[in-house]
Amino acid sequence: MAEHVITIEWVNAPDEVSFHDYAGGTYNSFTCTCDLPLPDRDAAARHAAESGQCPVCLGTGQISINPRETSGCGTCDGSGKKAVTVRARVTEEFVQEMAALLPDEFGLGDVVALLQEHMPAQNGGVETVLSVAAGMIRYLEVRGQIVLCSAPDFVPADGVGPSYDDPRWIRIS
Ligand SMILES: [Zn+2]
Ligand SMILES: [Zn+2]
Repeated sequence: MAEHVITIEWVNAPDEVSFHDYAGGTYNSFTCTCDLPLPDRDAAARHAAESGQCPVCLGTGQISINPRETSGCGTCDGSGKKAVTVRARVTEEFVQEMAALLPDEFGLGDVVALLQEHMPAQNGGVETVLSVAAGMIRYLEVRGQIVLCSAPDFVPADGVGPSYDDPRWIRIS
């Protein structure tokens, strides 16, 4: 079996990376030793899971939420091995159930709190909940059930980046 070692690099990243950009892999490049194209975090996570690696840290055993901060992956305990995949345990039914419980307008924190309440405790640490929350938001966005309602509406001054730190979504169905 071919070896799949995924490397994650930061590309032109600001000092602070919002969760939205982290989850989407906006400022990351993902490469695998097998040369499969990995355009975003989602593709990299899928490839990691397929090759028996942790889909959260992509087999690296570490989570880096911005270029300056790295810590051990809580989902695989730093082993880089796939335990239980996020994809396998979150069904569409579960996502729809959770979506129905969300308030009309919500932020990432609301989704995380909701998931923490409803996901079985053995399903891993905070990174797992965050990755499920991000996946769920993306899924609902694609389905047209929610829309982002707080894109930055100002032109940033010199040295001040636009803040995506607290994105909010509204439910439209
Ligand atoms: Zn590979
Ligand atoms: Zn991991």
